[in-house]
Amino acid sequence: MSPALRKAGGQRPRLVAVSNRVVHPRGAARGGGLAVALLDALRERGGLWFGWSGQISDQPDSRPAVAEAGPIRLATLDLSQAEHDAYYNGFANRCLWPLFHLRLDLAAFDPQHYDGYMRVNRRLAGALWPLLQDEDQVWIHDYHLLPFAEALREQRARQQIGFFLHIPFPVPEMLTALPHYRELMRSLFSYDLLGFQTEDDVQRFRDCAVREFGAQLRGDSVTAFGRRLVAKAFPIGIDAREFAQLATSPAARLEFQRVRDPRPGRTVIVGVDRLDYTKGIPERFQAMERLLERYPDTHGQVELLQIAPTSRGEVPEYMAIREQLERIAGHINGLYAQLDWAPIRYINRPLGRRQLAGIYRASRIGLVTPLRDGMNLVAKEYVAAQDPADPGVLVLSRFAGAAQQMRAALIVSPYDATAVADALQTARYMPLEERRNRHAELMQGLLRNDAGAWRESFLDALQRCSAPGEESPASPRAQAA
Ligand code: ADP
Repeated sequence: MSPALRKAGGQRPRLVAVSNRVVHPRGAARGGGLAVALLDALRERGGLWFGWSGQISDQPDSRPAVAEAGPIRLATLDLSQAEHDAYYNGFANRCLWPLFHLRLDLAAFDPQHYDGYMRVNRRLAGALWPLLQDEDQVWIHDYHLLPFAEALREQRARQQIGFFLHIPFPVPEMLTALPHYRELMRSLFSYDLLGFQTEDDVQRFRDCAVREFGAQLRGDSVTAFGRRLVAKAFPIGIDAREFAQLATSPAARLEFQRVRDPRPGRTVIVGVDRLDYTKGIPERFQAMERLLERYPDTHGQVELLQIAPTSRGEVPEYMAIREQLERIAGHINGLYAQLDWAPIRYINRPLGRRQLAGIYRASRIGLVTPLRDGMNLVAKEYVAAQDPADPGVLVLSRFAGAAQQMRAALIVSPYDATAVADALQTARYMPLEERRNRHAELMQGLLRNDAGAWRESFLDALQRCSAPGEESPASPRAQAA
């Protein structure tokens, strides 16, 4: 137990987690790493998970539907179609998402989307407020809910409230392009603790707070708008041990047999992503083309298996990328395919986690080349799924948050097709001993910084913000200062 918890008498406060979507424990495996990590914490100390139900209804109830799942209480609200269009599809995914991923060219600035986003945040906060208890630790997740703490404070909430941003924090020039950046930055100062994926994200937040708002810095704390908060990096991890076990489960083995080609020299390169313009999939296909151009020994031997299910299919930019990919894959396959081989196999649907684990393990190379990514959990899953005695090689974009931790991967720029092609060729011929050494180093890091360590370090830091005898940074007293 951390010193802060001991100091607080060993009593863990109730955890209230808030995220855009609430995932029922039954479907948690499909909900991905965040769902699993949150549910573990909620199970351990009992708690409430609050957010959107995932349902659209004509006249959404203003009170949340509450369900019990063992020690966990799930409280959810439906959204109306108009709310979903403005808050989720609109401001969150057509403005904040591209802007925070440095795609200013794709950001849509629509005042109605912003108003809808603020309204939904206030409505959700108003519905959560009566369910809160005085000693709760409240943990808000991600860019859909930036102003959530401010909306809770408007209801006079005095609990300690932490926020974790799963996506990158942008450079100040990018953030300030947003017409509402002042309000949004101010609203962040209603939190006690801001968690980011990497030190670079923390630094960009601090730069922005200093340059734009004259913030004062002291250690990890940042003071502006008359409020003080703590801003720190908490790189998110996966449950690496569990994922490694998954990779040897019967379902994973079946998938392994289907993907692994036992003929010498045959190499499967795997890419697994949501179909999103930040993931660099067209650039990856172009790197594959460069590999085929530069290294003729790859012909008939090397295949890129790209699994990319459609996501956010109602957003126009996501429809465009799907067409673009089909065109590039068709072009490359048309140029190089042989009667019994094609260089790119592209699957446009989701797969189960066991299946994925088996595919990772069967693939000699994991190719993870986002143009920008908060962390990228696929890179971590790929490593965890490998056979330590004969592991594959991870080729990783320097622009994924994961690259700051996973130094033993082959690190590339996704914009440099030649460099990616050369890294793939190096990976193909990497000696067993080097593969083992790199894998062992990566796996050690994954086990040390797993999902449990991420969650506990964040909650400990939040607890420290409120340990008895210490002034809480964003308490009403500090706010009035
Ligand atoms: P993001 O959160 O931007 O989608 P991450 O790489 O951090 O990117 O996390 C993606 C998660 O979604 C991983 O847990 C991964 O296993 C899962 N995932 C991605 N593609 C698929 C797919 N085709 N089928 C099933 N799960 C997928």
